Amino acid sequence: MNDLKEFWEPGYLIADQNQDGVPDHINVNLQLPEEFTPSGLIDFCARLGFETTALTFDFLNGNEQAEYQMDFVQDEKVTALKLHQTSRRLSVHYRSEQEVSRFLQFLACEWPVADMDKKPVETIYFSEEEWWVEQGEKTPVSFPKCDEDPQYKKSAVKSLTELWEYDAFISDSTPNPTHKQSLSIHVDKGISQEIFLDICYGAARIGMSSTALQLPMTNVGEADVFLQIETQNKGQCEIKLEGERIKVQGKGLALRHAVRYLLHDKHWREGGNVSFWERPDLDPTQEEYVVSSLEWEGERETVVCLDLIRTHHSNEADEITIFLSEPLSERKKIRNKVQKMTGVEKVNVYSSFKPIVCIVMEDWIEGLRKVASEIGHIKFVCKEEMNADGCELPIRWIQELYPLDEWLGEELSLHKDVVTFELNDEQDSQVIMEVYDKSGCVILEETILVPIDSMNYVDGKKRVYPVSNEVRWMVGGEVCKQKAFSTDRQNFYQFYQSHVLDSFLANLKMNEGQPLFDRIEIDVEMSEPEEKLPVEHERISSLEALHEDLYFNTLHFFDIHSKNQHSPGGVYPFMKVREGSKPKAYIKIYQREHAGFKEGAVIGLTFSSNHTYPTEIMKDIDGVFKSEKTSSPPPSSIKVGEHVLNSKSASFRWIPEQSYKGRWIPVYEWFTKTNESYLSRKKLSVYKPTVLIEAGHHANEVSSRPSVIELMDELSEKKRIDHLNIVVIPNANPDGDCIHKEMTKENPEWKHHAARYNAVGLEYAEHRYQSTPFGEARVVTDIMHRWAPDIVIDNHGIPAHEWIQPFAGYNSPPRFKKSYWLPNALIYGIARKLQGSRYEKQRDLLEQIQNHMMEKVQGTILEEKNKEWMDRYKKYGHQWLPDVFPVEQTGSLLFFTWETHPDPESHVAISRFPDWVSADLISEAADETVYGNDLKLCIEAQKVFNTSILEVISHKQSTSNYQEGGYHIIERKRPLIMKGETINEETLTHRI
Ligand SMILES: [Zn+2]
Repeated sequence: MNDLKEFWEPGYLIADQNQDGVPDHINVNLQLPEEFTPSGLIDFCARLGFETTALTFDFLNGNEQAEYQMDFVQDEKVTALKLHQTSRRLSVHYRSEQEVSRFLQFLACEWPVADMDKKPVETIYFSEEEWWVEQGEKTPVSFPKCDEDPQYKKSAVKSLTELWEYDAFISDSTPNPTHKQSLSIHVDKGISQEIFLDICYGAARIGMSSTALQLPMTNVGEADVFLQIETQNKGQCEIKLEGERIKVQGKGLALRHAVRYLLHDKHWREGGNVSFWERPDLDPTQEEYVVSSLEWEGERETVVCLDLIRTHHSNEADEITIFLSEPLSERKKIRNKVQKMTGVEKVNVYSSFKPIVCIVMEDWIEGLRKVASEIGHIKFVCKEEMNADGCELPIRWIQELYPLDEWLGEELSLHKDVVTFELNDEQDSQVIMEVYDKSGCVILEETILVPIDSMNYVDGKKRVYPVSNEVRWMVGGEVCKQKAFSTDRQNFYQFYQSHVLDSFLANLKMNEGQPLFDRIEIDVEMSEPEEKLPVEHERISSLEALHEDLYFNTLHFFDIHSKNQHSPGGVYPFMKVREGSKPKAYIKIYQREHAGFKEGAVIGLTFSSNHTYPTEIMKDIDGVFKSEKTSSPPPSSIKVGEHVLNSKSASFRWIPEQSYKGRWIPVYEWFTKTNESYLSRKKLSVYKPTVLIEAGHHANEVSSRPSVIELMDELSEKKRIDHLNIVVIPNANPDGDCIHKEMTKENPEWKHHAARYNAVGLEYAEHRYQSTPFGEARVVTDIMHRWAPDIVIDNHGIPAHEWIQPFAGYNSPPRFKKSYWLPNALIYGIARKLQGSRYEKQRDLLEQIQNHMMEKVQGTILEEKNKEWMDRYKKYGHQWLPDVFPVEQTGSLLFFTWETHPDPESHVAISRFPDWVSADLISEAADETVYGNDLKLCIEAQKVFNTSILEVISHKQSTSNYQEGGYHIIERKRPLIMKGETINEETLTHRI
């Protein structure tokens, strides 16, 4: 330094040690005389802290390795700061402690003064009234008056548990990139230097954590919060919260413990002791108990079938056709028995689950093979479903045929597009197969009428029309008699509707904010078709369909019948496919006592000289004071558990929350590392763009969790994210994850949507920014507070195979407006598009992201796979019902933009914080319970999605540092500056 005007510039007292362009170290050591405690030193330290993003408490009488040494020399003549050029030494001469206090305050608040002469300053002189440099003229000392804008007035601290909660001494009540700190510190004169220096360090930490810092901090009458440290002659020390005042009263070691706890210790979420008694793992485990236990056992449908034939057999019949929801092996046994029993030779036993696919595969294929070489095309004319009260789509019978075109193509060595569909609203049978030769003549025709039953949908209004069982006696191809009967699945589902949903509901008591029950466990065992098809992930699995029906229909039932109760409780259908077994089910409904929310505000903490943490807390519970002993010693460090993948490159692991079922939800952070003990995320976010990536939101969507870790480890290694801060929730829904692991043990390839939401069936994202007992809903809010990210990414997935629910209209759940029956892409995007003229930049940015992503996908296997899925989706869905099966593309990439309006109540980041969140995106990969190469492909797809976003953010952002209204402010312009964007260089970085 050769000019004291550069005093606060980076590169001198403050350094950038890791060379990433961000100040991260206090590079000066202040050598203080004994018993020297000028209050202005608190302001000076606060300013030192404000100028950096990281620090260590070693710059007061400490670090002799520091590049700059600053000493204090008593002087009879002058109070002044002198720069010794050769030795990187600074000396403060002072006539009295009072004058040097004011001088330090002046340096912290006012230095350097605007419009000074260009000549280097080597000495600053100071008296109570005036300051001057060398031969310069004397200028009266003034400190700016703080013009407090009531709009910025913080809500008062409500509880001492809020301190350091989000990386700041006192956090704002709503997330904000600006952390404005208006604090007045008053310290009793009689305090020991040891404790005084602890307070100075605390001021530096508070300064560091602020992006708008009110200075001075001492001797001010106007502030949001007052911190008073008073020596009082009593054995114990107390920290008391009295309105806007935090009072620390005591002496000796107890006082020192209290000060250190308040200003040095870290929050329990950071591994410290602050508010350790709030740790959720200290809550006693909630006892769970069974409220209701039900058993169901049905007569096998095969037994019912044989009984019907025994009783009703028509001797004139020359053919019998039977529909049964059974695997092929069981159906063959029934055919043999019926042949023996009746003497009828021609007995057809078809499946009543996806019957037409089975009939084509088992029966019609013979005829098709015979004419294979002549086939020009195959047309399936499907009945248009017209039941006005039904949940089914008009294309119900085209859905039924999926994925026959590809299967037939393989079997007959034809292109799948040889198979076409047509809708017809006049025919009786659901499907007619017309096979044409190359000249357009019909060479084969088959048709079938499958038995349909009718049942209530859970909403009590609509009906559903599932395929059911039937015995048909025929003479000469004409039906002469028929008997319908239910499938095992129907029988059980009817029982479930009446005995669980309809009767259980009446006994449930609402409990505000809490789930109605803990969980319903449904164990079902049945003999049902379960077959993997040689087409992608497709399978014929009636119990997978029942799993989906039980789960979503139960949730829908509660949606309708208990308004405002978005979390009925967990619904866990465990399905066992057991060929030839009697259908049975066990249903258990569990309840759990809820600890609920922490009661009352902590308004007092007591310290003794024996412990560094509070031994007693005082709570204010609705005006009643209650004192509690804390558990001592504080609990040991947090062990996260194996449900979260490790990252070898993450800079920090923060553990802010536990899930509803008590599993930790860590957050991994990537930023350029320092060796400092303290750092401020909010400050780091001022210097660099910050991106939040949430993985595993819906737990049966399996690719994002491994993908995000792999991606971050790779990018860190290649140093491609040095210009960013990245925050990752590696496993956002650990309870769902655990359910998923449990369910895939028995059925490893099903979608398992019961593991989608949290433990109690809640789309917890909708509960963000609210007081909620679900930790999984609070994590994003915590991160918005701590980092104020510019971009929010939520990695999701969709099924990898067909999603049908026969008891909900043979489609994905009716509670979704769009159909998710068929996957529409291997990877696609969704983004919120902010509406309104103010948000043009956000929209431009989104467009840039979309285009970049589209280019990255182009020419890759992802594009190829996307096209395959899009072809299917268009052939089976979009071409018939474009509103239910929508398509919105950026070039070849499927990318939906959802119009979003600013809304301070929204749970969507960009809608809630439109002025500082730049983009809000969702990825969707076809990854629901996939393995091996398919999983690898989805992992890759998620990486490409996330990387495309990271790659468009420019290294150059516009940061400014200035003073206004008594505040020192550092801020970065938002929304983000993207690559290629022309910016005014002057706006890049300007300092005071
Ligand atoms: Zn999802």
